[in-house]
Amino acid sequence: MRKIKIFDTTLRDGEQSPGCSMHISEKLDIAEALDRLGVDVIEAGFPASSDGDFNSVNQIAKIVKHASVCALSRCNKADIDRSIEAIKDAVKPTLHLFIATSPIHLEYKLNMTKEKCLETIDTYVKYAKQFIDTIEFSFEDASRTSLEFLAQCASVAIKAGATTLNFPDTVGYTYPHEMKEMISYIKKNVEGIDDIVISVHCHNDLGMAVANSLAAVEAGAGQIECTINGIGERAGNAALEEIVMAIKTRQDHFDAYTDINTKLIYSTSNMVAGVVGIRIPPNKAIVGTNAFAHESGIHQHGILKNKATYEIISPEDVGVPVTDLVIGKHSGKHAFKDVIEQMGYNLTDEQLEEYFTRFKEVADRKKLITRYDIEVLLRDETRRHIKRIYSLKDYEVTTYKNSASAVITLETEGKTISEHMTGDGPVDASFKAIASLTGHDYKLLDYQVHSVTRGKDALGIASIKLANGDVIRNGKGISTDVLEASLIAYINATNKLLQEG
Ligand code: MN
Repeated sequence: MRKIKIFDTTLRDGEQSPGCSMHISEKLDIAEALDRLGVDVIEAGFPASSDGDFNSVNQIAKIVKHASVCALSRCNKADIDRSIEAIKDAVKPTLHLFIATSPIHLEYKLNMTKEKCLETIDTYVKYAKQFIDTIEFSFEDASRTSLEFLAQCASVAIKAGATTLNFPDTVGYTYPHEMKEMISYIKKNVEGIDDIVISVHCHNDLGMAVANSLAAVEAGAGQIECTINGIGERAGNAALEEIVMAIKTRQDHFDAYTDINTKLIYSTSNMVAGVVGIRIPPNKAIVGTNAFAHESGIHQHGILKNKATYEIISPEDVGVPVTDLVIGKHSGKHAFKDVIEQMGYNLTDEQLEEYFTRFKEVADRKKLITRYDIEVLLRDETRRHIKRIYSLKDYEVTTYKNSASAVITLETEGKTISEHMTGDGPVDASFKAIASLTGHDYKLLDYQVHSVTRGKDALGIASIKLANGDVIRNGKGISTDVLEASLIAYINATNKLLQEG
């Protein structure tokens, strides 16, 4: 069986999509989760684009233990130098160079002839090769480039020292059989192609990113670039979870495998959704809440007789928590630790202590604690790197028909501070009071509240997006009381913006 490498670009292509920018601590958390998940390559960012990006790529390179850490770079010395510097501490550094090759990009974007394009590929792969062995070269807009020219570019890149060649469907335009033709043509017509890895990077503008990626695998590609939940520019990238489960479920067809620990798919997917503040649609393949629900009588009847009648993937396989009761108020730390380990998490003693305390707080207010609840707690904002400059100490909110009054008490640097405000409603009054206490009235871009589990005592998640100029941060709060969850979310988003250097 052939191994298909999984190249994850959640932190680069995903992060650069609208509303998905992440705080550095969140990027570190996601990088660790991707490493545990078993991806082969983590594209951590584009170091030349900003100091912030350089810094996060550099820190990710230091903490990732198994996967290769990759930095994106244009074809120029300054970009390459910056990228090499950023990933120098990685266990397996990869440099990702790219240039556009399609006529429209060459003419209008780069103002470059084909000859100049070939020369640029040669010059900069050779330049980079002095500093790094593993070089991926991408031909941007490959799917709208003539096959002949693409083969010429590929040949030049290989001769200059590239070790992986990536053929992106940058604009999500191609069709599975065309993708197959492109990869087959390259395999047949480029000298030395069998010694390097062929990769694809597909966008979902016509809903075919996953289908195109899989078509490339059929034609002989050995690597797929993708993101968790398919986040990415415009309509997004190919979704990692769909690709991995397609290859696994249809092993009979692909005769291939990936190194992904599929049991961690659900938790990783939820972690990323939480960080970027985008809810996963219920009908989303593999990770949607309805992906394994059987509602119709005929289907339920079949499932009861034999699961295989309507289920091609078992939920346990992707780590979907079973909704049964696992632990309650009287469970001890050992039982809690057991459940967490079964769920695929490895916590330090300190983290275990912290989450156990949170669990006890919730157990006091909520009778039944399910795995869903624990999953949510583990994804809470109490995670390590975010400093809690302000935290919620107390709140008293009263509301009348069209007006409300809130007294909010926060704790900061060991001091307790309070403010009273009125507003159109309880949320408005409370947010005003917090803004007044912190002295930062950030712009509220988005505010959502939803329940995680069913029942009257369900945990509520509040998600808030605040903007300080161009910098946007998402804060999350979790509580059995949605108002409290909202206040925590607002404070968390504020804390993140305050730590933006
Ligand atoms: Mn892309």
